[in-house]
Amino acid sequence: MDTYKLYLNGEWIDTGSHRVVADPGSGEEIARVATGDRDLARRSLEAAKRALPGWRALTGIKRGDFLLAVADGLRRRAEEIARDITRENGKPLGQSLAEVHATVDHFRWFAEEARRAYGRVVPHQVDGKRHLVLRQPIGVVAAISPWNFPLLLAARKIAPAMAAGCTVVLKPASQTPVCAIKLAECMHEARVPAGVFQVICGPAAPIAAEFSENPICAKISFTGSTEVGKKLIEASAQTVTKLSLELGGHAPVLIFADADFEQAVEGAIITKFRNTGQSCIAANRIYVERSIYDRFLERFVERARELKVGHGLEAGVDVGAMVNQQALDDAIAHVRDAVAAGARLLCGGEAVPGSAGFFLQPTVLADVPDGAVCMREETFAPVAPVVPFDTEEEALAMANNSRYGLAAYAFTSNFTRAFRVMEGLEAGTVCINDAVPATSNCPFGGMKESGIGRELGIEGMDEYLETKHVSIAGIG
Ligand code: NAP
Repeated sequence: MDTYKLYLNGEWIDTGSHRVVADPGSGEEIARVATGDRDLARRSLEAAKRALPGWRALTGIKRGDFLLAVADGLRRRAEEIARDITRENGKPLGQSLAEVHATVDHFRWFAEEARRAYGRVVPHQVDGKRHLVLRQPIGVVAAISPWNFPLLLAARKIAPAMAAGCTVVLKPASQTPVCAIKLAECMHEARVPAGVFQVICGPAAPIAAEFSENPICAKISFTGSTEVGKKLIEASAQTVTKLSLELGGHAPVLIFADADFEQAVEGAIITKFRNTGQSCIAANRIYVERSIYDRFLERFVERARELKVGHGLEAGVDVGAMVNQQALDDAIAHVRDAVAAGARLLCGGEAVPGSAGFFLQPTVLADVPDGAVCMREETFAPVAPVVPFDTEEEALAMANNSRYGLAAYAFTSNFTRAFRVMEGLEAGTVCINDAVPATSNCPFGGMKESGIGRELGIEGMDEYLETKHVSIAGIG
C-alpha cells in the first residue's frame, strides 16, 4: 500500500495521522494518506499568504509558463494518474484517462488566459479626471473539491486562480486524495514556488471552518453538494468571504419525435451512464415525446443492458463501481421509492450480486410519477427515470420544475424548436443534440440552487480577480 504525505509550503509533511483509501471496485485498501487538522489548515493559509506577493508580482506570461510545465507533467504521467483515479474513484480507466487529458487542457487554457487579465481605461466625465479599472488577484484561495471528477474539478479552480495571481490551498474529497497529491507532485516538479499551491487532506468541517473564518482566506471555491454549499454560505457570512459554488444538478433530457432517433438514444445513454451516473450534469429525468415513447424505451433498455459493468481496470468496462456503500444504498432506495410510487422497473435496480465492490446494474424506470423522490432529488447513480410528454410547452415546464439548474439536454432536428428550447431551459449549460458539453473554453456553472459563479471559459478567471476603480484628478 502506498503512503502519501501532505504538500505544504513546498514540503512533504507527514502529520502522524492517516486515512486509508479503499478501491470501491474491490474493497482493497490502496493508499494511506496523511491528514491534517484545523491548525494545519491555518498554517497552510499563512504560507499561502507569504507566497502571495511574489506570485502576484510575476507577469501573467511567467505564471502561464508554470501552468504549462504542470500540464506537461500531468501529460507525461497521464497513464499512472488515470490508474490512481480509477482505483480511488471506481470509474472505467478510459474515462479516467479522458479526465487527465481534459485536466491538461484546463491548465493549458488558463496558462494562456494568465496574460489576459485586462482592465479598462474609462473616458472621464469631469475635466482633469481619469478613470482606470484594474483587475487584480483576489488573494489566498481555498479550493474544496469532490470525488466524482477528482482531478478535473480541482483543476477548474486551481488553474484559473493561479493564472490570476492567487495562491491556493486545496482540500480534496477524503475518498480521492491520491490524484490531488499527484497534482502536487507535478507542481513540485514544475518548481512552482513554495506556498503557491498546497494540499491538505483531513476532516472537512474543521478545515472548512478555518477557511471560512480566517480573514487570510479571501475566497472559497467549492464543488460538491448543494447541502454543503449552503453551509458554506452561512459560515462565510461573518467574514463575507467570497464564494464560488458548483453544486448539485438534476438535468432534464427532452427527446422530441423529430430527433435523430439513434443519436438521441446514444446521447441519453452517455449523459446518464458516463462516470457511472455520478456526474453533476448526468440525466436525472428523461422526457420523451409520446409518439416515440415505447420505441425509445425498448431501444434505451436494450442499450442499457449491453453496458458492461465491472472493475474500472478491466478491459471494455462501461460502468464502474459506485463510490461507496452509502451511494449504492441511496440509489437502490430511490429505485424502490419510484416503484412504490407506481413506476415500472424495466431493467437493473439491484446491486450486482456476489461482488466485492459497489456495483449497481444500469437501471431504467418508466412512467415515473412526479411525486417520486428521484424526480426531485439528485440520483447520483446509473438510474434513468423516463417519462412521456405531449407538447413542447409541457416538456419545458416539466424540465424547469426543479430547484436545480445546472445542465439540460434536448434532442431535436427542428431548428426553430432548438432555439426556443435553448432559450427556455433554465440551466447554466444547455446541450442540443449533444451529451458531453464541458470544454476548457466555455463557461460552466449553475442557475438556481446549482450554484454561484462560473468555471472555465474567459469567465473562469474572473472569479479570482477583484475589480478596482482608480480615480485620478488634476490631470491636464
Ligand atoms: P459533498 O459531500 O458536498 O463533498 C464535496 C467536498 O466537500 C468534499 O471535499 C468534502 O470533504 C467536502 N465537505 C464535506 N462536508 C463539508 C463541510 N461541512 N464543509 C465544507 N466542506 C465539506 O459532495 P460529494 O458527495 O463529494 O459530491 C457530489 C455532489 O457534488 C453532487 O451533488 C454533485 O452534483 C455535486 N457536483 C457538482 C458539480 C458542479 O460542477 N456543479 C460537479 C461535481 C459534483 P470530505 O470528502 O472529506 O467529506
